[in-house]
Amino acid sequence: MPGPVPGIHVVFGVLLKGVDGRVKPAMTTFVVLYLAHETWQYTAQQATNFEDALQMLFPTTIAGSLPKPEWLAEPNKLWAPWKSQGDELARAKRDATVLAIKLQEDAGIDIVTEGEQARQHFVHGFLEKVDGIDFAHKVEMGIRKDRYKAMVPQVVAPLRLKGRVHADEARVARTHTTHQLKFTMPGPMTIIDTIADQYYGDRVKMAFAFAELLNEEAKALQADGIDLIQFDEPAFNVYMDEVNDWGIKALVRAAEGLTCATAVHICYGYGIKANTDWKETLGGEWRQYEDIFPVIAKSPIQQVAIECRNSKVPLELLSLLKGKKVQAGVIDVASDTVETAEDVVKVIEAVSQHVPRSDIIPTTNCGMAPMRRDIAEAKLMALGAGAKLAREKLG
Ligand code: ZN
Repeated sequence: MPGPVPGIHVVFGVLLKGVDGRVKPAMTTFVVLYLAHETWQYTAQQATNFEDALQMLFPTTIAGSLPKPEWLAEPNKLWAPWKSQGDELARAKRDATVLAIKLQEDAGIDIVTEGEQARQHFVHGFLEKVDGIDFAHKVEMGIRKDRYKAMVPQVVAPLRLKGRVHADEARVARTHTTHQLKFTMPGPMTIIDTIADQYYGDRVKMAFAFAELLNEEAKALQADGIDLIQFDEPAFNVYMDEVNDWGIKALVRAAEGLTCATAVHICYGYGIKANTDWKETLGGEWRQYEDIFPVIAKSPIQQVAIECRNSKVPLELLSLLKGKKVQAGVIDVASDTVETAEDVVKVIEAVSQHVPRSDIIPTTNCGMAPMRRDIAEAKLMALGAGAKLAREKLG
């Protein structure tokens, strides 16, 4: 929170007590009024930003992650090892979080994230803080309907949160921005597709156990001042029948009772060769969302984040999301070619054929964690500039 100017407390100390050390009542009143004014100004500013972002045409956001600086983790990797440990790592995560926010603000991003700078992986960043999981004895499991194999941890006891999961980075982010703040968490279906069950004996039951934990942390994040919670559910376009049967219910359970905005991000996956190979088999038109959009449309989840630029998903499917805000991916994260503002406008224009303009939130197709930093930063600038141009041309 921007407080009174630096050094003002020393000045106040002298004003309150005078050079003779005696308290001056008139000055005390002045100081109290000054501090009240500062607080009011900050609160008013935050409220204004919140309103602005809601009412402005095409407010921008990003899917969630940004590349990590090389002093925090090894660059250009999905599972990048940390460069330091203990307190030094905690400080590096904090610094990277502040930097991620600054880069987004400077690029004209309205709803910013902490860039997922404090977690190694979008699912395991959450699992690390959950009791009941054996990370020491991993087993091989087929992921995304056996699209690829991975060594995964096992659930061996009742699941419980060890404590807060994302409090540090959420509070750092909230302290350093007055913009709307979005926070991403893995969805229950995607979590259980990444972990083996040796305890519940029923994967749906295990998904609901995770949904309860997600809900606990989501409510705490909301109390930390997060404005929008987004659940990432890439598994939704793999297990379409199950989304209908229980996946959507587990997601709604994770978001239950939240009064902040809620979103779900679905995507075809990036950064893993198996995903790229799988996408090659899907043909020229990807219609998986046709089955799940109507189910999401009926749910209380308010926003849907999906890839639109260079995507093979027919954009007319977006009309199945009536009543939802659509976070439309206008930045391709699978290509290092930096979009122009005009490229961004074109996608926004195409999306607006199927979604009311007031419901479009331009974003990146997916997270940018594995990208080169300079390219990711240039793409952020393109996103901000493109949305601004779209407001001028289409507003
Ligand atoms: Zn994604």
